[in-house]
Amino acid sequence: MVFEGLADRLQQTFKKLRGRGKLSEADVSEAMREVRMALLEADVNFKVVKDFIGKIKERAVGQEVMQSLTPAQQVIKIVNDELTELMGGTQSRITISSRPPTVVMLVGLQGAGKTTTAGKLALSLKKQNKRPLLVAGDIYRPAAIKQLQVLGEQLDLPVFAIESGANPVTIAERAIEYAHSHARDMVIIDTAGRLHINEELMQELKSIKNTVKPHEILLVVDAMTGQDAVNVAETFNNELGVDGVILTKLDGDARGGAALSVKAVTGCPIKFAGMGEKLEALESFHPDRMASRILGMGDVLSLIEKAQSSIDLEQAKELEKKLRKEDFTLDDFLTQMQQVRKLGSLDQILGMLPGMGNLKKQLSGVDFDEKELAHIEAIIRSMTKQERRDIQIINGSRRKRIALGSGTRVQDVNKLLKQFAEAKKMMKKFQGMQKSGKKNFGGF
Ligand code: GDP
Repeated sequence: MVFEGLADRLQQTFKKLRGRGKLSEADVSEAMREVRMALLEADVNFKVVKDFIGKIKERAVGQEVMQSLTPAQQVIKIVNDELTELMGGTQSRITISSRPPTVVMLVGLQGAGKTTTAGKLALSLKKQNKRPLLVAGDIYRPAAIKQLQVLGEQLDLPVFAIESGANPVTIAERAIEYAHSHARDMVIIDTAGRLHINEELMQELKSIKNTVKPHEILLVVDAMTGQDAVNVAETFNNELGVDGVILTKLDGDARGGAALSVKAVTGCPIKFAGMGEKLEALESFHPDRMASRILGMGDVLSLIEKAQSSIDLEQAKELEKKLRKEDFTLDDFLTQMQQVRKLGSLDQILGMLPGMGNLKKQLSGVDFDEKELAHIEAIIRSMTKQERRDIQIINGSRRKRIALGSGTRVQDVNKLLKQFAEAKKMMKKFQGMQKSGKKNFGGF
């Protein structure tokens, strides 16, 4: 989970401060020493840490904090403000050209996650009613073209590729012509990477840039490589010019050093963060919300946005209708669970809720939701249509058959049936409450 180490350390530091009541200058200095250590351990660039601590100290030792009734809260607020500022202050979006197509060029080293990110970005744009075209510009790794074509199929989006002989500049030019003639308003060019930065790579990217003049050059870097990611960003920005950074694999980055240093060191804002391998796992990067997550204050806004974009509204309405008519079946139960699952892992969801840090720790390492969902799906798929509609008919021998068919145990089948019955009961109760609530209101 992202920033786990840092979040733990900072939250402990602030807990101590809270217990103090009035704060002396020495208390603040001690806390700042701990914040400094925590940031260095998180692999934040040392110069960035030095400036950061300097700014906080200047603000925190002032009269208004020391004399306030809630000095600890004031210090936390200052740290929150400065963390937000450090990561870029406000959200940076990509430029959308008023004359389509908008051309976005993804650059970065091999393995950083460019191709995957191209797919994620295309999905996110598609959800905003854009018409993206994916362009396979990585001609050196034959698998890259195939990988992008597979993503295109999954997303039901066109992929422009020339399989033999063409150079990346020609491919990019032709792709843009294709976009014009097929009314695609966003062009996402996946370029080739290399294991390390070299002259050949930079020359190639520069020629694409000079020819197609992209509206956005986004650098994809792997957050887990920490300060290396920051160095890569600095070089790419100096050599090529970069409009924004996409930090991938932030889900696996417990330290967070790259996320906290890249803007301060390079001046390039982070525009998106990759939070997993799935295509839905791309988030717009909001510095203020990230700061809140680090300080254990949660990020309810991102959770709500995630729910809005992941949950299929039509499907949800359909489910609600069924609930009202009380013909909610096991198939519907499965659909509902799959929708919730799209929001991310339990760990990620809890990380966005304020004060859930402790619960998260207790659950860490338990990926039961993923496995359990697979079990539930297997069990439901092993039932006949009739059984799914009416669980009353599922007797002992049917339970045995279902367990065998789904590779689970009879206990698992029993457990699922019980969960389903409970869920149905709860829904009934909830509806009862809604109905009687209405009646009461009518009486006023
Ligand atoms: P490319 O060489 O830059 O095109 O990299 P790929 O797109 O092929 O990605 C390399 C690997 O990183 C693949 O296994 C991806 O699934 C994985 N990956 C990409 N983005 C993320 C992310 O945000 N989180 C995680 N956990 N894995 C990612």
